[in-house]
Amino acid sequence: MTAITLTGLGKRFGGSVAVEAVDLAVPAGTFVVILGPSGCGKSTLLRLIAGLEEATAGRIMLGDRVVNEVAPGARGCAMVFQNYALYPHMTVAENIGYALKVSGVPRAQRSARVAEVAGMLGLGALLDRRPAQLSGGQRQRVAMGRAMVRAPRVFLFDEPLSNLDAQLRVQMRLEIRRLHRDLGTTSVFVTHDQLEAMTMADMLVVMQSGRIEQVGTPQEVYHRPATRFVAGFIGTPAMNFLPARIDAAGRAIVATGPGDGWCPCADAVWDLPEGTAVEIGARPASVEIARAADEPRFTPDLVEDVGSERHLHARATTAGATLDITLARPAGAPLPSGPFAIRIPPEAAHVFEAGTGCRATPRNRIAGEAA
Ligand code: ATP
Repeated sequence: MTAITLTGLGKRFGGSVAVEAVDLAVPAGTFVVILGPSGCGKSTLLRLIAGLEEATAGRIMLGDRVVNEVAPGARGCAMVFQNYALYPHMTVAENIGYALKVSGVPRAQRSARVAEVAGMLGLGALLDRRPAQLSGGQRQRVAMGRAMVRAPRVFLFDEPLSNLDAQLRVQMRLEIRRLHRDLGTTSVFVTHDQLEAMTMADMLVVMQSGRIEQVGTPQEVYHRPATRFVAGFIGTPAMNFLPARIDAAGRAIVATGPGDGWCPCADAVWDLPEGTAVEIGARPASVEIARAADEPRFTPDLVEDVGSERHLHARATTAGATLDITLARPAGAPLPSGPFAIRIPPEAAHVFEAGTGCRATPRNRIAGEAA
């Protein structure tokens, strides 16, 4: 098994930066998912590891070897693309065995290896078909077979499931995880689909504008997003954000009018100077209904029913701001039908500096400060 170590990795195309100052250590055997919006540099990062792009800064190591100057074919990486890239005139068996043929592996040995790989992928009965006679899912399996046949040191997946329908995507993502469990090959999987990323990753890397925003397990990234960007990018429905300012006691206060303010997470205080502009984040499931007399009052707008849960979208208009909030509740749980107030439990509140987007650290709660 092969570790991947990227140090200060950068790629510019002329004047534009695609990947910048990327430091990443992927332990051998890890399934790492690179997640980010379109254009954030995910594919470029993958292509740098494969050797299909030349780095303009930094170092790429596979195992204990620096591979910046090593030709793509000699790096031991196998890539699987979104568009399958199969040879249309070849059968499934010929497609899977092609790399072995060009490297001179004898026919009998080749057939045995193709049969072994096809068996793992459930393609045994389709070996004589051509790509045009296969479904999208079967074509993607053949593409994976082509990558697997040479037992590469590293698998690189570039949005391999994007062309498949929703049901097949779920099935293929399970198959890829099972293969990884059985083979243990270090894998880098690029996607812009957060559900795919959360469900597949041992290690999740969130990128924006060519840079890494956060590296962690899916649980860490979901529960402790390092930046405002990560907090807003991961989670459905998306995290709520309320604009606020830090007061003299360190509390985050939402301005509701001239001289008036509201503290949604009352007993939480933050390690930031007074006056710092922040955003308070709260997942829709963790926003609570407050006492009836509390202000501001949110008016229900729309309810979305997704079967397992319902999402209530509501708005409060104060003299200081218009505030939008979404609540998520399990199906059958009550939702307010008239104006309501909210509170955010301190343990469920995330605070991000408005300027940098960085996560703030909570201090002792006001109520427990003596302790
Ligand atoms: P997507 O999800 O849309 O594929 P991505 O996150 O994979 O996006 P990249 O394809 O890595 O993003 O592109 C990152 C940036 O680099 C983009 O701004 C893109 O326009 C630019 N870029 C990529 N390849 C080239 C190229 N060959 N020449 C010039 N600019 C490029």
